[in-house]
Amino acid sequence: MEYTFTDAIGKKYHTPPGRKETPVEIRIWPNVDKSAPAPSDKPYLGNCWVWTGIVNPQHGYVSVWYKKKYWRLHRLVYHLINGPIAKGMVIGHKCNVKHCCRPEHLEEVTQGQNTRDAIKDGLRKAGLYSKEVMS
Ligand SMILES: [Zn+2]
Repeated sequence: MEYTFTDAIGKKYHTPPGRKETPVEIRIWPNVDKSAPAPSDKPYLGNCWVWTGIVNPQHGYVSVWYKKKYWRLHRLVYHLINGPIAKGMVIGHKCNVKHCCRPEHLEEVTQGQNTRDAIKDGLRKAGLYSKEVMS
């Protein structure tokens, strides 16, 4: 199957006829809604790009087969755009939207930092966050 395709970040792809595997970008971007609202507590981040395709019912994440393994969608998008993720690092969501894969909303952080951010954002949403609480 021959494809000509422009992905969500404007990169163009053309695959020659006879290629077996569908390029991963073609499996990702048509399933992403780029007009999802920005997070209400961080409107400056802009719209979230939210996955609208199939979600793995076992763990609730999106699994994408790429290079002989399953990737969580946000890790794969980060990898495709920024290159390999350093060992021991996790990809966090600045927007806290689980199925968002907007590259600008993803950041490479340590597991500890990711957990601290999640707690801080949870408290902020609950109206409990202040510098004194989290310092
Ligand atoms: Zn987002």
